Amino acid sequence: MERSLIVQKYGGTSVGSVERIQAVAQRVAHTVERGHRVVVVVSAMGDETDRLVDLGEQILQGSPTTPAQLREWDMLLSTGEQVSIALVALALQRLGCPALSMTAAQVGIVTTRDHSRARILHIHTDRLWQHLERGEVVVVAGFQGITSLAELEITTLGRGGSDTTAVALAVALGAELCEIYTDVPGIFTTDPRKVPEARLLPEITSDEMLELASLGAQVLHPRSVEIARNYGVKLRVRSSLEPLQAGSEGTLILSPPPRPRVADSSIELGLAVDTVELDRDQAKLVLVGVPDRPGIAAQLFQGIAAAGVNVDLILQSLQFTAAPAGGTESLPQPTNDIAFTVSRSQVAEAAAVARQIGQELKCAAVIVDEAVAKVSIAGVGMMGRPGIAAHMFQVLAEAGINLQMISMSEIRVSCVVAAERAGDAALALGESFQVIPHLHRAKMLTAPQDSHPVRGVALDLKQSRLGIRKVPDRPGTAAHLFGRLAAAGIIVDTIIQSQRGYHNGIPSTDIAFTVPQDQAMAAEAICRQVAEELQAAGVDADHDIAKVSIVGADMETYPGVAARLFTALAEAGINIEMIATSEIKVSCVVRRDRGIPALQAIHRAFRLDCP
Ligand code: ADP
Ligand code: ASP
Ligand code: MG
Repeated sequence: MERSLIVQKYGGTSVGSVERIQAVAQRVAHTVERGHRVVVVVSAMGDETDRLVDLGEQILQGSPTTPAQLREWDMLLSTGEQVSIALVALALQRLGCPALSMTAAQVGIVTTRDHSRARILHIHTDRLWQHLERGEVVVVAGFQGITSLAELEITTLGRGGSDTTAVALAVALGAELCEIYTDVPGIFTTDPRKVPEARLLPEITSDEMLELASLGAQVLHPRSVEIARNYGVKLRVRSSLEPLQAGSEGTLILSPPPRPRVADSSIELGLAVDTVELDRDQAKLVLVGVPDRPGIAAQLFQGIAAAGVNVDLILQSLQFTAAPAGGTESLPQPTNDIAFTVSRSQVAEAAAVARQIGQELKCAAVIVDEAVAKVSIAGVGMMGRPGIAAHMFQVLAEAGINLQMISMSEIRVSCVVAAERAGDAALALGESFQVIPHLHRAKMLTAPQDSHPVRGVALDLKQSRLGIRKVPDRPGTAAHLFGRLAAAGIIVDTIIQSQRGYHNGIPSTDIAFTVPQDQAMAAEAICRQVAEELQAAGVDADHDIAKVSIVGADMETYPGVAARLFTALAEAGINIEMIATSEIKVSCVVRRDRGIPALQAIHRAFRLDCP
């Protein structure tokens, strides 16, 4: 009988000491005894990669920037895994289990040339199969790749990338199962180290996991989930620290059946966008100049939920200056704009609530616009490829279409545009991305049985916020800015455009967005250039933020989810500085030191600690 093949990946803590390596060898040997072939992927021991980064930074007095430095950086960081693979192979041999270790170059894991964030293109499997057929366990170095078999330049996949190596190997080898062994028993409702009441989830969909992973839950490298989803890999996360026989089953990540693929398509760079959608059933409401203090968003969206209205997108951003329409610059004053969209059939109810609250809060204006529509692009292949969103903005700019609201998630970008141009927008996007636009987004009206509004909560403490004040509000602005950022490989999230004010007599908006902290300096420099080119009023950066997000695939079907989130934060006295939603997540930016209290408050509010 053909023996089934399992890929097992062990993270840094799992191979952090001699004892742990011996325990890993025992688990692998046990799997072999049960009749499986095994390919093992390991990370560097413990915090070894951090230590290597620190050494490099001491020499460079900073992070690598030039191509020559980036090359050496990957030479340096890839060494950690070479130690751990050899030790695991030796430990297996000691147990009488035939095994050998292989680096990415020896296997032939071919990636793009992007040092420190390379993507896997292709994995040669001949040598792996030769050893597997001989009954040997192959221990492969995670996180690393090579540019080509001829050139052998070493690349790395980005921090946490060993998960991606493992899932990509499972695809290339057609493995039955890919198991990610880590230092917690599986995927929890939130990080169990930050919220002890977090609960283990027996299952999670790959969509939800993708969002959680890209919103800060480091337990899986987001790209590993992307690959599992694209290829339908059976993926399980479990603990390497539990006893061999008595351990829990961990968490199964559920993927939809894989779509047929072009035979020679590369593992990580498939079709970027597979869906273009137009949703005409949208109306936009904006409260301009809302006071910046805890509890405001809660009050507004409680009112909206109480009126039975389901909100779709919500964006809130800090207005850097309170700019009355048509007015000149007034003194900086902390106020917010809150913009949201609802179904047109509910606009009257929503407008009544918005106007009443707008009056109570003495907002500068309440705008209701029914002449809008939402165009979206979606596809898991968009992940980590900032150029795709930038391309969307470019296509819309070339068609002369102005963007009124932008909402982003890792795998979806939606823009609210004027209704009269929405059809053109969808056609232009369909043509450019070569997919046929759907003219309606299929909305589920009732929650599927057995579903939850919120599956998990994530906290990201590694983001910075950048803002450009008073950029001209005309087609092409977003394309210009995000095109430049994308060209520098900067991954932008949570983009928010506030309502228009005026600057130098022309309509202008503030744009704010978050970027990974290690890209913040580069992003800020680009923003300053763009601000100058566009004659914007200025740029500011805030590195002291935290982003908390709730994720749930069925969130859309439960009214009042956002209100509950905002209320939880208000009751904990936490001010919300930015809000951004997509169909399956709501993210809030808060002060950094409020991040963990926010996570705990939200976890409690959605009763995620109760089974
Ligand atoms: P490894 O070294 O095995 O790759 P990581 O440190 O990358 O492990 O990821 C495991 C860690 O992820 C856990 O120790 C936990 O603190 C953190 N984590 C964050 N969010 C979650 C979550 N929702 N479920 C489980 N673990 C989480
Ligand atoms: N050792 C690498 C890191 O620390 C890769 C990994 O652990 O997945 O980022
Ligand atoms: Mg990891």
